[in-house]
Amino acid sequence: MMNSCERFGENVFNDAVMQKRLPKETYKALKRTIQEGQTLDPQIAGVVANAMKDWALELGATHYTHWFQPMTGITAEKHDSFIKPVGDGSVLLEFSGKELVQGEPDASSFPSGGIRATFEARGYTAWDPTSYAFIKEGILCIPTAFCSYGGEALDKKTPLLRAMQALNKQALRVLKLFGNEDVKRVYPTAGPEQEYFLIDKEDFKKRPDLITTGRTLFGAAPSKGQELDDHYFGAIRTRVSGFMKELNEELWKLGVYSKTEHNEVAPAQHEMAPVFATVNVVADHNQLAMEVMKRVADKHGLTCLLHEKPFAGINGSGKHNNYSLSTDTGMNLLDPGDTPSENAQFLLFLAAIIQAVDDYQDLLRVSIASAGNDHRLGANEAPPAIISMFLGDELTAVIDSIISESAYNGKKRESMLLGVDVLPAFPKDNTDRNRTSPFAFTGNKFEFRSLGSAQSISGPNTNLTTAIAESLCQYADELEAAKDFTAAINTLIRRVLKAHKRIIFNGNNYDPSWVVEAEKRGLMNLKSTVDAAPYYIAEKNVALLKKHGIFSETEVHSRYEIRLEKYVKVINIEAMCMSNMAHTLILPAALTYSSEVAQEAGAKKSVAPSLSLEAETALLEKLGAGITELSKAIDVLDKAIAGQDEEKDLPEQAAYSHDTIITAMNEVRKYGDALEVIVAKKYWPIPTYQDILFY
Ligand code: ADP
Ligand code: MG
Repeated sequence: MMNSCERFGENVFNDAVMQKRLPKETYKALKRTIQEGQTLDPQIAGVVANAMKDWALELGATHYTHWFQPMTGITAEKHDSFIKPVGDGSVLLEFSGKELVQGEPDASSFPSGGIRATFEARGYTAWDPTSYAFIKEGILCIPTAFCSYGGEALDKKTPLLRAMQALNKQALRVLKLFGNEDVKRVYPTAGPEQEYFLIDKEDFKKRPDLITTGRTLFGAAPSKGQELDDHYFGAIRTRVSGFMKELNEELWKLGVYSKTEHNEVAPAQHEMAPVFATVNVVADHNQLAMEVMKRVADKHGLTCLLHEKPFAGINGSGKHNNYSLSTDTGMNLLDPGDTPSENAQFLLFLAAIIQAVDDYQDLLRVSIASAGNDHRLGANEAPPAIISMFLGDELTAVIDSIISESAYNGKKRESMLLGVDVLPAFPKDNTDRNRTSPFAFTGNKFEFRSLGSAQSISGPNTNLTTAIAESLCQYADELEAAKDFTAAINTLIRRVLKAHKRIIFNGNNYDPSWVVEAEKRGLMNLKSTVDAAPYYIAEKNVALLKKHGIFSETEVHSRYEIRLEKYVKVINIEAMCMSNMAHTLILPAALTYSSEVAQEAGAKKSVAPSLSLEAETALLEKLGAGITELSKAIDVLDKAIAGQDEEKDLPEQAAYSHDTIITAMNEVRKYGDALEVIVAKKYWPIPTYQDILFY
C-alpha cells in the first residue's frame, strides 16, 4: 500500500512526470513556456501530447477533455476518446499536438453577454501549459482558456492569465530599479480558504429550495442558545471525518495541496485551506476542490452546500483569498525583509497595493458581487460591503511616520533609504487579529475576505492583480525617469501613502459608526450587486482593463451583462421556487393543521360542552391570521414575479429584482417562518433548521 504522501499528485502530469517522460529538449522547451511564458513550438506540443496520452492510458484513462471555466462560474468539459478508426475496422489510440493545444467546443450554451450574437457560436479552447493536466474519473483533463472565434475571452481564466502577464511586466520594471537583475518572472500567489456546509443528504432531498437554489428560502431560527453541542458532534463526527479523510486523499491525488480543518463558526460548517500556489493554478484547484467536495459528500450520505448563505441567521460561507506576489527566485514581495533596502522595496509594493485597493474599490467590489454574496456583504455579516484595508498597528505606525516625516517608534534614524529603520517583523498573530476587515495584511500577504464561497476566485484576482499592475506601472514610469533614485522613491512612497491613507481602517468593520466614518472619508458603500455592477463599466475601470490588455471594451460590457443577467435569473428562480413551496407545502400544512385543530375542538365540544376551548380558539385565531398574511404575501410575490419585464434593459430588470421581487420574498418568508413555529411538527412538510443543523 502506498501512503498518502506517495499518492500525492499521482493523477497529475506534473513536473516529475514530465521530466521522466519527455525528451530532454522537449522538457526544457516546455519549462521555458511554463516559467517564462514563451510560446510553445507546435512540434513540441506533439511530443508532449503523445507522452501525455501514454501516461493517461497507463492510468486507465480512455478519454480526454479540454477543461475550462466558462462564465457560469463552474467548470465545463466535453469528452473525446483517444480512439481513431484506421479504416480496416481496427482502431489506434491517438492524441495529437493539435488536439492538445486547441479545441472547438460548441459555445452556444455558455453565457457570453451578447458577444457571440455578434460573432458566431463557435468557441475555442486553448491549452494553458502553466496548469498541469490531470486525470479525473478516467478522463485526461487539460486545463484550457476559452474564447470566441474573434478571440474575445468567454471564460474566467483568460483574463486572469492576461492580468498575470500585465503584473509581471510592470513588477519586473520596478524590481530592476532595485537591482534585482536575476528575477525573470513575478506572479501572484493565492491560497483560498474554502468554507462550506455539510448536511444530511436525506434532509437535502426533502427541501426543494436547497435542491433548486442551494439555500433555504424558509426556516425559522432554531431555538435560542442552541450551539454546536456535543450531541451534534457525536452524531456526525464519524461521517464528517470520513468525508474529510477521503476529500484529502482525492484532492492529493489531483495535486491539490489541501489541509482540511473543522470550522466552528456555524453548526455544520467547515473549511478547507490549501497550501498557496500561483494564482491561475490555485484557481483551477479551487474549482476542482469544490467539485470533489460535492462528489465525496454524496458518497458519505452528505450534501455539501457551497452557497454563500444556505441558512438565514446563521453565518454564511466565504472564501478568504490569501494573496501575495512572488518572484521566480523565491522572493515574497510582501515580506517586510530584514534590511532597509528590502524594506524600501517592500514599502513600494505595499504602497502599490494600498493605492490599487483605494483607486479600484469599485472594481474589487463588483468582482465579488453576486445574488448569493449579497446576503453576506452589506448584511449584518462579515465582511462589510465597504472595501477598506487593515494593516495592523505596527505597520500603520510605520506608515504614519513616513507620512509625517517623524521618527518611527521614537528611535533616532541614520541616513537610511526612505528614512525608515529596519522594519519590525510583523508576526502573523499580531496582524491577524482583525477578522472584520475585508482586506487584511497578515504578516507577509494580504487576505481578501469578501469572496463568496461559491464563486470562482479568478475574477477578484484578475481585478486586484490588474489594479496593482497599474500602480506599479505609474511608479516605474516615475522612477525610471528619476535622476536620484533614493530621493525619488522617498517622495513617491510618502506621496502615495498620504493620498491613499483613507483606505486603511484598523477598527471594527461591523460597527455602525464605520459606515458614517467611511462616508466621510469618501469610501464607497455599494450594498448590493445592483449597486455595484455599473462600476464594471465605469470609464476609469474600462480604461484600466483596456490599458493592461485584460479586456477589450466589448469584453468588459459582456462581463457586465453576464453579471446582471445571472443576478436576474437567480432571483427569479428563487422567487418561483419560493412561490411554489408556499403554495404547495407551507400553506397546505398550515391549513391542514388548522382544520385539524378546529375538528378536535368541535369533537371536544360535542363530548364535553363545559370544557374550555380557549387554547384552541387562540391557536385557531393565530393560525388564521398567519394564513391570511401568508396568503396575501404569496399573492404579492406572484404579481412581482409576473411583473418582471424581460423587454426592459438589464439594469432595470436587476433593479426590479432587487427592489420588488426580493422585498416580496422577504414578506413571504416572514409569514412562512412565523407559521413554522406554531404548526405542530408532524404537519410541517420540510426538515427544519433544527433537524438539519442539529441532527
Ligand atoms: P487563517 O485561517 O489564519 O487565515 P490558514 O492557515 O487557514 O490561516 O490559511 C492561510 C492561507 O494563506 C493558506 O492557504 C496559505 O497557504 C496561504 N498563504 C500563506 N502564504 C501565502 C502567500 N505568500 N501567498 C498566498 N497565500 C499564502
Ligand atoms: Mg484566513
